[in-house]
Amino acid sequence: MSRFWSAVVHGLTPYVPGEQPKLDNLVKLNTNEHPYGPSPKALDAIRCATSDSLRLYPDPNGDALKIALAKRFGVQAKQVFVGNGSDEVLAHAFQALLKHDRALWFPDVTYSFYPVYCGLYGLAHKAIPLADDFSIRVEDYLPRSGDRAGAIIFPNPNAPTGRLLTLAEVEQIVAGNPDAVVLVDEAYVDFGGESAVTLVDRHPNLLVVHTFSKSRSLAGLRVGYAIGHADLIEGLERVKNSFNSYPLDRLALAGAVASVEDEAFFQESCRKVIATRETLVAQMQALGFEVLPSAANFVFARHPRRDGGELAAALRQRAIIVRHFKQARIDQFLRITVGTDEQCAKLVAALGEILSA
Ligand SMILES: *Cc1c(COP(=O)(O)O)cnc(C)c1O
Repeated sequence: MSRFWSAVVHGLTPYVPGEQPKLDNLVKLNTNEHPYGPSPKALDAIRCATSDSLRLYPDPNGDALKIALAKRFGVQAKQVFVGNGSDEVLAHAFQALLKHDRALWFPDVTYSFYPVYCGLYGLAHKAIPLADDFSIRVEDYLPRSGDRAGAIIFPNPNAPTGRLLTLAEVEQIVAGNPDAVVLVDEAYVDFGGESAVTLVDRHPNLLVVHTFSKSRSLAGLRVGYAIGHADLIEGLERVKNSFNSYPLDRLALAGAVASVEDEAFFQESCRKVIATRETLVAQMQALGFEVLPSAANFVFARHPRRDGGELAAALRQRAIIVRHFKQARIDQFLRITVGTDEQCAKLVAALGEILSA
């Protein structure tokens, strides 16, 4: 606290990321990082970019990356926005596209950065309760007598539940709100969902946001992007160019382009995580856990007879870190990142021990 802080700073409740402990031999299953490394071609490209050219500023527009992504998704480069992690892309979207007189709608259980950005940028928001089975109910997001959203944001699959809406359900929300931007945060879509990018040419109010941090195993590089109608992208560019001309450095641009071009590696590394998830879900169910259906690289599970916070603490004593949210409705759940087969085996063994103690 300081008298030198602005009024805005006094009012902020910052986001708290999962911890990044500086310990070896930890089974780290708390922040949804990919258990296997990024494409070797991406690493080579980053090494090549580590040269004398670093004395020069990077391309302020990130054109090479926009072109690579446009090709991958069958859209035009002017329909692509790139930023320093999808968190930055989301932040610009809150300011450029989601802030209106009417409230921004999002689920009551969702990515906890959304209310933080509302605080930072002064957006009114309305938290819409998930159904009892923790799914998003499409009809809750459609305009009703006297009330409609100023804009809508939700992750698909949702975080931290892992539950997925079908593409048809996403389209119902987008088509049902033609006067509001609908932002679909697809941080985890590559682990089992169908991307709404295929809908952007039909719906000028749809913005889809992706990250390189999860399915492309490049959380340390900080790259994210948005795809939507060129007019939405232009709004994002206006905010970006009023904030930071060079959000993506030369290493990030080089690594990201090479990652996008290595489709075979990408497909295979997603496939491995999905296979491990299916095994993990079955093993946890055998231990008596209720596991929500997951289309992500994490599972969200609770045990009918054991407290979530106590389970997380007992795992921690065994050097296994998972995420536990002390939040209404979900404080009995653990969010567990799908690690390597070996890490997941250690987790299941530890849970078995803890439950039989
Ligand atoms: C991890 C995550 C992000 C942020 O990803 P970065 O690109 O690393 O900033 C955004 N949205 C959701 C739902 C996430 O889980």
